[in-house]
Amino acid sequence: MALLGRLIVATMPLAPKPIVRMVASRYVAGPKLEDAISTMIKLSSEGACFTVDVLGEEITSMAEANFFIDEYSQLIDSITKNNINAHISIKPTAFGLLIDQESAFENILNITKKASDNDIFVRLDMEDSRVTDSTIELMTRIRSEGLGNIGVVLQGRLFRTISDIENICEKLGQQSDFRICKGIYLEPKEIAHTAYGDIVDSTNNAIGHMLRNGAYTAIASHDYPVIENSLSLLKKYGLSPDSPPNSFPGKGPGYEFQFLLGVRGDLRRRLSSEGHLTRIYVPYGLQWYEYGIRRLKENPEVATHVLKALLMPWTNRR
Ligand code: FAD
Repeated sequence: MALLGRLIVATMPLAPKPIVRMVASRYVAGPKLEDAISTMIKLSSEGACFTVDVLGEEITSMAEANFFIDEYSQLIDSITKNNINAHISIKPTAFGLLIDQESAFENILNITKKASDNDIFVRLDMEDSRVTDSTIELMTRIRSEGLGNIGVVLQGRLFRTISDIENICEKLGQQSDFRICKGIYLEPKEIAHTAYGDIVDSTNNAIGHMLRNGAYTAIASHDYPVIENSLSLLKKYGLSPDSPPNSFPGKGPGYEFQFLLGVRGDLRRRLSSEGHLTRIYVPYGLQWYEYGIRRLKENPEVATHVLKALLMPWTNRR
């Protein structure tokens, strides 16, 4: 399977762009803000809520950050105007984290303030291990400015994740708020699990630590062993759809399930019909092609998932 993934990635640049666009259209709302809004309006009928991501990352000059500042600002206005139950997801390197940490902090602080004024939560996506420390630091600094509407993503595959959970929970207590996923970046074996079974176990372990600490836990996985284990953990820690809701608007009762747009909609709808809060990650933007190719190069396994979803749609319902 890994070989097939690498083959698809190697031949992808040869495919005509309209074909790549057709494949991508399942996973990306479209190039424009209006595409994200209409996708969310359409999917609202499935009982889901959303987190929206403007595609793009790792800018090469601070001037490029202005595009993301403007776009996220318009996105917040548009979510509010259309009264959609949506939060936002941000990639810190798109705001200059790898160029000028202080300016990136100011940029993301300003977006978080505007989001707070509109009751919108900001999730800092976690990128590769070069920025794990600085992304966590961004979140804790913004929290220390008195803003409670920001949380970070941790990646189950990294060895450090359990100690990151403990450190953040020690600082923020039950106000800690995580998205937990396996991690899309293939990190070296010195710092991360590399085998499927170990990644599932360590992700499940991380979810257990978050729930035990009373942290808000957004479980971002389409994998049955992670979902089923999470459902048992929720029972163990006394959490259910009937638990008291989190005080922040649009959040679940201490936990939620998150899915990528276009992936395993049948599982998402099942969880939603059982009463669990489900959130769809909706990416949009002009950089859909570059973003898709980069993601596939980082983790060729994604290419096999995409191909399987297209050839055998019954295994991966929208
Ligand atoms: P897998 O075992 O990879 O997938 C289980 C099944 O889901 C597959 O067999 C396939 O049927 C389906 N599937 C999974 N991915 C795809 C796909 N792309 N296309 C088609 N089918 C697919 N990673 C980060 O490093 N940082 C982040 O900030 C981050 N944010 C995320 C936010 C959300 C809401 C989600 C759902 C994932 C996020 N990820 C992030 C990606 C995550 O780390 C995994 O790489 C990804 O979710 C695949 O892992 P999985 O747990 O779904 O299990």
